[in-house]
Amino acid sequence: MSSDEAFETVAVHAGRDDLASMGVHALPIDLSTTNPLPDIELGGGSYEAIATGGHPTEGGSVYARLWNPTVARFETALALLERADDAVAFGTGMAAFSATLLAAMNRGRGRHVVAVRPLYGGTDHLLASGLLGAQTTFCSPDEVGDAVRDDTCLVVMETPCNPTLELIDIAAVVSAAGSVPVMVDNTFATPVLQNPLAHGAEIVLHSATKYLGGHGDAMGGVVATSAEWATAIRPVRAITGGLLHPLGAYLLHRGLPTLALRVRAQQATAGQLAELLTQHPAVASVHYPGLPGADPRGLLGTQLRGAGAMLALELAGGYAAAERFIGALRLFTHAVSLGGVDSLVQHPASLTHRPVAPDARPGAGIVRLSIGLESAVDLWRDLEGALGAVELEQATPAHASAT
Ligand code: PLP
Repeated sequence: MSSDEAFETVAVHAGRDDLASMGVHALPIDLSTTNPLPDIELGGGSYEAIATGGHPTEGGSVYARLWNPTVARFETALALLERADDAVAFGTGMAAFSATLLAAMNRGRGRHVVAVRPLYGGTDHLLASGLLGAQTTFCSPDEVGDAVRDDTCLVVMETPCNPTLELIDIAAVVSAAGSVPVMVDNTFATPVLQNPLAHGAEIVLHSATKYLGGHGDAMGGVVATSAEWATAIRPVRAITGGLLHPLGAYLLHRGLPTLALRVRAQQATAGQLAELLTQHPAVASVHYPGLPGADPRGLLGTQLRGAGAMLALELAGGYAAAERFIGALRLFTHAVSLGGVDSLVQHPASLTHRPVAPDARPGAGIVRLSIGLESAVDLWRDLEGALGAVELEQATPAHASAT
């Protein structure tokens, strides 16, 4: 695969270089839990290579928790799409983050982490709980320089943010972090719209469960990074056992050729809906990077190549309005997760961000939308109908609805 090929071309061919020589056209799935070894010498050497973060010797995969060829294909593809040296894939995004955190703390610098809020609720929760032994300072993007200490091993950030869709300047955070490595959760943007390594980040994380797979039927997580970091993270995966299942790797890899098409089509619809929502009286505000005033740092078009397909709206009527709105939608499924071909709606304060400290939790009137591949006309009709139901309820005196 040459470096001057377009994203779309790489997405179709990455991780498939050897298929023709194998006489197959579709991605093969290797379900072996253990692998026959030609001799002790090769087996032992290969085991040693994997245990120290490297790749196995030809014919020496050893054991599926250590290495699986179907997973390795997906990793090759992801590394190419994120323009990284290497990638390491896991059973979930949280497993990928846990292994990254453990690897960072294991590097000898210390156990202190700087986390830029807002973050996905699960990431925030893992750090705030101290479960893996990290001591975390939560801060705003502007406070990173002051928060970093001699024992800080990692800076964690996400952009666009979940669920406020704010954009954070990766290069500015990297500069404020100094010699401390920065990990960026790129789940919302996908490599179609953003490559954090190009802005100085050392590690990119994806919940592959979302856009990469794109069909809501496979869980996975992946970090794309330098050879040095991959060598540090891979043994953590082998020891703690967070490997992605080969069937999941197959499904996630199969999603990649259509990734750019899906993201761009979903983004076009999201842009139209965001604009229409701003004009509706039941909506107090709309959070979408493409709207006027939403990108004060001018990151759209430079860091982020498009505004994406996630948006959030704040209903003027708070929690009660959010409940009525979600209950009245027909095409949007009320469900957490995002990035699939069908549109989803959820209430972050009650669900994805429920474990977050109350002062950092999203407001009760905020509803998050993941825009799918349905027609924009049909989605707007659904949204408009649900907003109408909210208005009707607000206009109806309480005693009237009780009769
Ligand atoms: N990062 C973001 C932005 C997410 O939205 C999620 C899950 O919703 C995760 C990470 C965690 O991924 P997973 O659910 O695959 O563990």
